[in-house]
Amino acid sequence: MKDYEKVDGIATLRDWLLGSNYTVVLTGAGMSTESGIPDFRSSNGLWKRKDPMEVACVDALLYDYENFYQFYKARIENLMGCKPHRGYKILAQWESEGLINSIITQNVDGFHEMAGSTKVYKLHGTIHTIRCSQCSSPASLNSFLQKEYCKKCEGHLRPNVVLFGETLPQDELQIAIEEIERAELVIVIGTSLMVYPVSQLPFRANGRKVYINKEIPDHNLFDLNLKGMAGEILKEVDQIIEY
Ligand code: NAD
Repeated sequence: MKDYEKVDGIATLRDWLLGSNYTVVLTGAGMSTESGIPDFRSSNGLWKRKDPMEVACVDALLYDYENFYQFYKARIENLMGCKPHRGYKILAQWESEGLINSIITQNVDGFHEMAGSTKVYKLHGTIHTIRCSQCSSPASLNSFLQKEYCKKCEGHLRPNVVLFGETLPQDELQIAIEEIERAELVIVIGTSLMVYPVSQLPFRANGRKVYINKEIPDHNLFDLNLKGMAGEILKEVDQIIEY
């Protein structure tokens, strides 16, 4: 992308953001890579080293717990050393300024809330809390990391994330659909849009659709594509907003 095209794109997003009466942001794993959390499908994402379909799934939980446990233990330990980057803080500030109305996220890292965003719909749950995979009793993060069993039924412990093969929380999904359909502007950030049903969500919007990602597919249905790092692009847009 030539520089002037990007400059025009940044200004266009600023104008659309300021002109929109209802703006919804949809984020994916690419929103957190600048914080040091690998995504699933980039060239250096988790996907390349280990197939998440084989470990972040119901079958692994049931039949290959050791692999399941090691995968999530490594993700939780990595997360403990990371924090939300500037782009997250900008989104939180935009919410407090009334520029965006809600955030829908596929991320399980909790960074939007940590950065100060309040209206966040988490479609894939959270990695910060733990439950028993059999009786659903809550357990501590430390119990999971120590590979303890459920104190009530001795079942395996698991994070409260949505695994491949599980359905999304239907009430959160319903709200997300309503938010998207109501939006005059939808900003999609750092997702390959390959995981159903979130992949379909942006296209339910009647309003404008913007895609911010470090890779842009040749043909897509967005009104504006901004190729680059999420945190950098959000910073560039924020810098030309006059509060
Ligand atoms: P994905 O890995 O399929 O896609 C990430 C996209 O972000 C890719 O297109 C990549 O090119 C782009 N990207 C990477 N770094 C970027 C950056 N700095 N700026 C802009 N774009 C960047 O992830 P997904 O679409 O979110 O879906 C896969 C699943 O991954 C979800 O179910 C989610 O729960 C899970 N996941 C979550 C986390 C997290 O919570 N941080 C991390 C890894 C995976």
